[in-house]
Amino acid sequence: MMATYSDLKNKVILVTGASRGIGKEIALALCAQGAHVLFNYRGDETKAALLKTELEKVGGKATGLNFDVTNPEAIKVAIDQFTKDVGPISGLVNNAGISKDTLLLRLKAEEINQIIDTNLKGAMFVTQALSRNFLKAENVSIVNMSSVVGLMGNASQVAYSASKAGLIGLTKAVAKELASRNVRCNAICPGFIETDMTHALDPKAREHYQTQIPLQRFGTTTEVANLVCFLLSGASAYITGEVLKIDGGLYI
Ligand code: NDP
Repeated sequence: MMATYSDLKNKVILVTGASRGIGKEIALALCAQGAHVLFNYRGDETKAALLKTELEKVGGKATGLNFDVTNPEAIKVAIDQFTKDVGPISGLVNNAGISKDTLLLRLKAEEINQIIDTNLKGAMFVTQALSRNFLKAENVSIVNMSSVVGLMGNASQVAYSASKAGLIGLTKAVAKELASRNVRCNAICPGFIETDMTHALDPKAREHYQTQIPLQRFGTTTEVANLVCFLLSGASAYITGEVLKIDGGLYI
């Protein structure tokens, strides 16, 4: 069930990593609210054109922004071009992320760099590139996609957990730094959500994790998208610097 947030209509919101999974579902949910969604993707223009059509079918407006979140120059070019041509952006979902599940002993330096560069530095670069633009926008809300493992850690996910814990520090610092400009910044910590990322889990690990979740199931991308819509809307106007778990009780 999806609540309606009338102030999301026409709000311009950038969602990173929107090509699939949670990011795509967030983009769909925002379009259904009538927002103008800037969906970030990397590279594939044909897929991006199809995604634009799919998003606009549910409502709102969709514009693709092609950049890799690990590339600060490309981020700046895409954002500056959009704000110059169209106007300010008043919402951001730092969703792009990768994981590599393996024991610390086996984790290669290159993999550690990729995880931190994408999950933590990527969010920092995008937020930084938008921070000047945010001063011209109204009622800005940023949502950072952390994870319960950023709060509780997880074996075989040392770099991933560290990147997600870092996002919580980033969230709180941005919330303090930009509050006087009416910019809010919150983090959400999903548990296990049905996407390509969790479909890659070994079936035994999946079964084990499921026994640890009080609600006894993985979450859906729609459930995460609902929470993100709430945090981007005025319904959460007095919430900033908060870290919200959406995990079926996994962290209790
Ligand atoms: P998916 O693997 O299904 O999708 C990841 C998305 O991130 C894709 O759109 C991918 O684009 C994009 N992406 C990855 N690297 C980059 C990059 N360098 N630049 C731009 N885009 C990039 O993941 P989920 O949907 O499952 O996860 C989304 C977010 O939620 C992640 O941050 C993840 O850590 C977090 N999360 C997920 C949980 C889960 O259970 N699924 C639980 C907790 C948190 P492309 O298609 O080009 O690869």
